[in-house]
Amino acid sequence: MDKHTGIGKLLEINKLHAGRYDAPESTLARRLYRASHPTEIGVFKCMDGRLHLPVMTNTAVGILQPWRNLGGKFNLGWPGLLYTVREWVSYAISRGRNCMPIATYHFSRGDEHRGCKGFNYDTKAAIKFSQELKEQFDRVFGKGPVYAVQMGIETDLEALILHGDNGDMVDLSEISEQSTDDLQKLIAKLYPDMPPVMQADLLPIVSGNIAHIKDIRAENRPIAKAEHQEWVLGIGRGFDWLHEINTALLIGPYDPRLWKTIAVGAGLLLDNINSGRINPQDGVVLITSAIYRDPIGSNRNLAEEKTKFLHDFAVEVITAEVPDLLPHLEHLTTTVDMNTRVLDVLESINPK
Ligand SMILES: [Zn+2]
Repeated sequence: MDKHTGIGKLLEINKLHAGRYDAPESTLARRLYRASHPTEIGVFKCMDGRLHLPVMTNTAVGILQPWRNLGGKFNLGWPGLLYTVREWVSYAISRGRNCMPIATYHFSRGDEHRGCKGFNYDTKAAIKFSQELKEQFDRVFGKGPVYAVQMGIETDLEALILHGDNGDMVDLSEISEQSTDDLQKLIAKLYPDMPPVMQADLLPIVSGNIAHIKDIRAENRPIAKAEHQEWVLGIGRGFDWLHEINTALLIGPYDPRLWKTIAVGAGLLLDNINSGRINPQDGVVLITSAIYRDPIGSNRNLAEEKTKFLHDFAVEVITAEVPDLLPHLEHLTTTVDMNTRVLDVLESINPK
């Protein structure tokens, strides 16, 4: 595969990060981390490629479980979402672990038009939505072994905004050089009823983000880097190997209005081309993905059927809604072995 095509670049990224994930030292480090920080953390976030929580919190692949949709809009009543959340919670509880769903919204402190397209850049509406999603988790699971929190993601500095249960909001870009003890106190103040083990598991996320913000400030990056530059549209699940910021717009298969969501994502990708933020000659990819844990038998077969369906469905949507994007697209239909994060390529098409 030519490394200079979009598909070639994506396969290289997968090789790099799956290789790191699967390396014996990182497998051991991850197990050690899980043993000392047992809480399962799920992040419900927008499809926007700039929102990469593992990168923003210096957390290894496989610790934060992502759910992605337009605007970070989710409803636990959606049949396609409901079963994944139920499975996630059951898995955690059966292993004696707590669960922390994080309902997020995003915005830019420098320009509202670098905010969330899914809310037409209305940050107040995005905050309200994520608050309601958090409350939906509270209603369904209560506040105990499953303990939901609300967070904002500010993309200029890649900073998290913690929304406390006490009504306080803390922008982590305004916190510097705090001791572990100070941060523990901060978390306990924001979430007084949260089980202490979960407070302790939130701590490395918070301190990781503070360290990351420091790096972003030191980098002094041009503002263009904080704008959309995604060159990949990813539909499905299992993209956490894509451990790179501002690379892919990612849409999970949860929203009953998936047609509309894919159309918006495809529109954003076309806009990246038309506005000159990316060069289509460098490769623009539609990738679909479905996950499996059991490499033999029907589990994997079903994942293959799912990713093929998602690819055909996405092409149908793009043909109908954003036809100008089609000639730019390379197509990659994949499944992911969640034990290794290695991609299996079912079909790879580069029409150029
Ligand atoms: Zn968004």
